[in-house]
Amino acid sequence: MAGTFVPLLAVREPTGAPRDRLGRPVHDLRISVTDRCNFRCVYCMPKEVFGRDFAFLPRELVLTFEEIERLARVFVRLGVAKLRITGGEPLVRRDLPRLVERLAAIRRPDGTATDLTLTTNGSALAALAGQLAGAGLRRVTVSLDSLDDATFRSMNDVDFPVDRVLAGIAAARDAGLAPIKVNMVVRRGLNESSVVPMARWARDEGYILRFIEYMDVGHTNGWRLDDVVPAAEIVAMISAEMPLEPLPPNYAGEVANRWRYVDGSGELGVIASVSEPFCGACTRARLSADGHLYTCLFGTDGHDLRGPLRAGATDQDLEATIAGIWQRRADRYSELRSAATEDLPRPEMFTVGG
Ligand code: SAM
Repeated sequence: MAGTFVPLLAVREPTGAPRDRLGRPVHDLRISVTDRCNFRCVYCMPKEVFGRDFAFLPRELVLTFEEIERLARVFVRLGVAKLRITGGEPLVRRDLPRLVERLAAIRRPDGTATDLTLTTNGSALAALAGQLAGAGLRRVTVSLDSLDDATFRSMNDVDFPVDRVLAGIAAARDAGLAPIKVNMVVRRGLNESSVVPMARWARDEGYILRFIEYMDVGHTNGWRLDDVVPAAEIVAMISAEMPLEPLPPNYAGEVANRWRYVDGSGELGVIASVSEPFCGACTRARLSADGHLYTCLFGTDGHDLRGPLRAGATDQDLEATIAGIWQRRADRYSELRSAATEDLPRPEMFTVGG
């Protein structure tokens, strides 16, 4: 916004924190704790590809909680202020609250806690919200693509009823995991008709809703540009019934474009990663369940951290390795998206967790 002062980052970086080749620090770490999921969302883990015979990671290749904690501590020393647990579906990993306890105990170089959060499909939240909050989780983001039961069941493709996710969200609220964010991926022909009802519901319940453009992650979902409902169209659909106006970002690099209802009844976000890419301010690193570091959701191969970790690397070694990878980073795939990038290796969403 012209004339508005926007700090580069909402948090101060420790001295010696690495910057990548485009000057971006590492601020967020997304930790995938499993490549498995109990849903088969048609745009993420389509059943035809991820059927009964699909070979998920064998247990010995998946990082243990001790290993995840150790790497997370190194990342926090390098400047990470936000830890997001994701997957696959993170709540299918046994004893997840034990990992939350370990991560919640990590302190930043200035002694403050990290912003520790979790992204989930919500299916097991009714059972686990209390334990997660007790273990030190601060808040949750729940993925929910429709309130309409038939639409939701057909999108998760395992016939999972929407009521159970809504019960999970209510349990998270009761457990104090607030503010609750809800993410909705909009895919043309599947759930556009759910956009306005979702906006109304989230506004009435006081949840922070973010619409996400369907992205060309991985190679298995058969992505086509025609399937993307652009952010502008999503905003226009809602605004026609409940007028919206734009809000300035909270800080530079905020991925969601924020809008507020003109009548003051709340706000929502739209993540326009396809129609308005925001690579320039991307400060996210992603750790896969098998210990690979990805510096971009697209067009990139992972860097193995499990190897050195299990070969006896010290924390200083790991710090130097990770800092070196980050300093060499120049990714800005979404800004370059073109036919030339189509065949590049890129991780599946369930590998790196969004
Ligand atoms: N299972 C958890 C969940 O459902 O939130 C965490 C992992 S899931 C891969 C993370 C997020 O990625 C979900 O909100 C999901 O809808 C989103 N996602 C998956 N594939 C996507 C795609 N092709 N485009 C946009 N978002 C996608």
